[in-house]
Amino acid sequence: MSAPYAVMPWLLGFLLPYRRRVILALLCLLLGSLSWLALGQGVRLLVDEGFVANNSARLNQITLAILLLCALTSLAVFCRFYLMTWLGERVSADIRNRVYQHMLKLSPTFYSQMRTGEVISRFTADTTLLQSVVGSSFSMALRSAVTAVGGLLMMALTSFKMTALVLLAVPMVLLPIIMLGRKVRKLSRASQDKLADVGAYVDESLHEIHTVQAYGHEAVDKQQFASRIEQVMQAARQRIFYRALLIAAVMLLSISAMVLISWVGAKDVMAGSVSAGELTAFMFYAVMVAGSAATISEVIGDIQRAAGATERLIELASAPVDIASPATPAALPAAVAGALSIRRLSFAYPQVADKTVLQHLSMEIEPGERIALVGPSGGGKTTLFQLLQRFYQPTAGQILLDGVDISTLDLAQLRAQFALVPQDAVIFATSVLENVRYGRPDASEQEVIDACVAARADEFIRQFSQGYATQLGERGVRLSGGQKQRIAIARAMLANRPLLLLDEATSALDAISEQQVQQALEQLMQGKTSLIIAHRLSTVINADRIMLLDQGKLLAVGTHQQLLQQSPLYQQLAELQLLS
Ligand code: ADP
Ligand code: MG
Repeated sequence: MSAPYAVMPWLLGFLLPYRRRVILALLCLLLGSLSWLALGQGVRLLVDEGFVANNSARLNQITLAILLLCALTSLAVFCRFYLMTWLGERVSADIRNRVYQHMLKLSPTFYSQMRTGEVISRFTADTTLLQSVVGSSFSMALRSAVTAVGGLLMMALTSFKMTALVLLAVPMVLLPIIMLGRKVRKLSRASQDKLADVGAYVDESLHEIHTVQAYGHEAVDKQQFASRIEQVMQAARQRIFYRALLIAAVMLLSISAMVLISWVGAKDVMAGSVSAGELTAFMFYAVMVAGSAATISEVIGDIQRAAGATERLIELASAPVDIASPATPAALPAAVAGALSIRRLSFAYPQVADKTVLQHLSMEIEPGERIALVGPSGGGKTTLFQLLQRFYQPTAGQILLDGVDISTLDLAQLRAQFALVPQDAVIFATSVLENVRYGRPDASEQEVIDACVAARADEFIRQFSQGYATQLGERGVRLSGGQKQRIAIARAMLANRPLLLLDEATSALDAISEQQVQQALEQLMQGKTSLIIAHRLSTVINADRIMLLDQGKLLAVGTHQQLLQQSPLYQQLAELQLLS
C-alpha cells in the first residue's frame, strides 16, 4: 500500500515534457481561485457601501465589477479545465505507450506466470483511473486547497475571533476525513484487485467458448463468475459505505460548525463590532472553505485509488526483463552461414525448475544441413526451437550460431536469422495479406502472393469473396488447421531467413496438400540450415541427419538407415508413426 506521494516521482516524469502546459494550467487555477476570493470582497462592498449605505450609483459600479470578475473567473476555469483534461489524456496515452513497450520486451516466462486478462485490466482500467485523476480530481483537490487556504486567510482578515472559532472546529472536521480516507484507500485496492480477477476470468472463459459450451460447462462458469462478481460487490459495498460515511461526516460537522459560528457573528453585528457586509463576506468565505474541504474529502478517495492503480502500473512497467540483449552485443558475420553448435545444453522451464526438459544435449550442425528431429511427444523438440531463438536462458551449456554464443548477440538480430513455422500456426485478426506480410513487413503485394502460391495457400485465399483483403481471426474468417498452416508457411517463405525451423509444419494438411507444400518447402530449404520436427517418414528420409530425442536426451544421431540399425526406439517409431 503506497501513499499518493510515493508514486508522484514516476508521474511527474510523465508530466515533465509538458511542463509549460502544467505551469499554465496551474496559473489558471490560481487565477480562478483568486478571483473567487475577490468575489467575497465584492459581496462585502455590495452590502456595506451599496446596500446598507443606500448608494445606488456605488451599487451599480460594484455590481458591474462583480460581473467582470465572474467573466474572468469563467475564462480561467475554461483554460484550466481544458489544459488539465488534456494533460490527463496525454499522460495516460504516454503511460499506455510506455507500459506496452515494456510489455513487448517481457519473455514468455513472465506471461506464463500472469494471466493476460489481468494485464489487460491493469492496462485499461488503471490507466483510465489515472487519467481521470490527473485530468480532474487532482486539479479539483488543488483548487480546493487554494480556495480553502485563501478563504481562511480572508476570514482571518475579516474577523479574527470568528476565525479562531472556525479553526477550533477544523480538527473536528479533519480527523474523520483522515481516518475514513485511510480506510477507503485500503478497500479500494482490494476491490480493484477483485475486478482484475473477474476480467481475467471472463477473458479465459470467453476465449475458450467452444470448449466451455462443448463440455456443457456454462452452469459451472456462471456460478464461478457470479461468485467472483459477488466478491467485487462485497469489496465495493464496504468501500461505498466508508465513502458515504466520509461525505456525511464532513457535511454534518462543517454545517453545524458554520451555524454555530454565524450565531456568534450575528451577535457581534448586533453589538456593532462587525459590519453586516463583513459578516456576509465572512459567511461567503466560510461556505467556500467548507465546500473546498468537502471537495477534497471526496476526491481524496479518487486520488488514493489512482495511487493504487499507479502502483500496479509501475509494477508492470518495471517488471524485470529476464531475456535481454547484452549491453554490447557480439557481431555476427555479415553473411550468416547458419552453423549451429549445441554444447552440453540443459534446460528446465523456470516455472517448473525441478523438471529437466533437456539434458546435456550436444550437436554440431553444418551450414545448409537439413536435420530432422524425431521422438515421442514431450521429448523436448519444441523446447529446443525455443532455446535456439533464445526465448529462455539455458540452465547449462550454450548454443553457438556461426561460432558466436547466441546469448552474446543482439536479441532482435539473433531472432531475425530464423524463420519459424510453429506447431500451432498463429493467425492475427487482420487481412490475409497482412497476416502473410508479418514475415517481412516491407514485402510487396506481389511477393506476398508469390509466397502464398508456393505455400499452396493462394488457391483457398482466392476463393474468399475478398481474396487477400479478407479479414481473418477474431472478427473475420476462421481458417481450418491446414489453411492456418499454409498461411504460416507462406509467412516463413516470405521471411526467407538463413535458418528454418519447421515444427510439425504440415501436420494438419491432408496427404495431397502436404505433398504439394512439401515441394515448396524443399525449394525453401535449399541452401538454408533447416531443423524439421516431423513425424512422417518422407520428410525424415530426405534429411541429412536425424536427431532422436526422448525425455530431453539425445538418444541417437544419424541417417535413417543408421538409426534403423542402431536404435530400437527409432525402429518402433518408424514402424508405428512414420510409416502410417
Ligand atoms: P515436444 O515438442 O518434443 O513434444 P516439448 O518441447 O513441447 O516437447 O515439451 C517438452 C517438455 O517440456 C514437456 O514435458 C512439456 O510438458 C514441457 N513444457 C513444454 N512447454 C512448457 C512451458 N511453456 N512451460 C513448462 N513446461 C513446458
Ligand atoms: Mg512439440
